[in-house]
Amino acid sequence: MERSLETQVSQAVDAWLRWLPRWQPATHRGRVAPCRRCFGSPVLSAVGLGADVPHGVQHGLSTRMKAIVDAAVAEYTSRNLPMLQAELDQQAARNRARTYRPAEGLEPEFEGLPLDPEPVAGAPFLFTISGLAQESDQAVPDLPPLSSEAKAALRQEVGLADDYANMIGREICAVLLHHRLRVQAAVAQHVEPQIEAMLAELTRSLDAPFEPGIDPGRES
Ligand SMILES: [Zn+2]
Repeated sequence: MERSLETQVSQAVDAWLRWLPRWQPATHRGRVAPCRRCFGSPVLSAVGLGADVPHGVQHGLSTRMKAIVDAAVAEYTSRNLPMLQAELDQQAARNRARTYRPAEGLEPEFEGLPLDPEPVAGAPFLFTISGLAQESDQAVPDLPPLSSEAKAALRQEVGLADDYANMIGREICAVLLHHRLRVQAAVAQHVEPQIEAMLAELTRSLDAPFEPGIDPGRES
């Protein structure tokens, strides 16, 4: 029997809660562009993970919710949208023909993030993961072009799939309202103390910027 949306959301929140104690603040430089999946996400605001929560904490949850939407839309498409399904099957076959697919099979905490670090001015990379992936993509022939009738029909089915995705997204938001308390309790337990410690450390280092030998926070 297929699991209800409530069960899927609840299990995804459970999985995220099991992961959360392993979260640590990023020590590398932050991303320049905001994440398109998390920035302004209604799913994240429904569950109370606002802009004051670090992106790494948000991303694992928004990705798990996106996976639920994707699976529901895939099911709906296979039942109701034959042209879109045929197009997706062709694209999937083309993707499988690529020899290098670094963006596939990642953990939810990493899925959908840039594959390479931000470039540093004056220090170009010898190669990038995304560059290698692009080369591998170019080595596979493009799909044959569609007629204009086929394009119009496909566009209509894509619109229906989008509507369905939005409907599932709204249902997920409604379900997530019931998980707010346990999500926020977990953030208070596992995330906020680390942020406070980081801020305290920053304040200490700003207080004594020119005295590297003296640590004012050290017990002696
Ligand atoms: Zn994100």
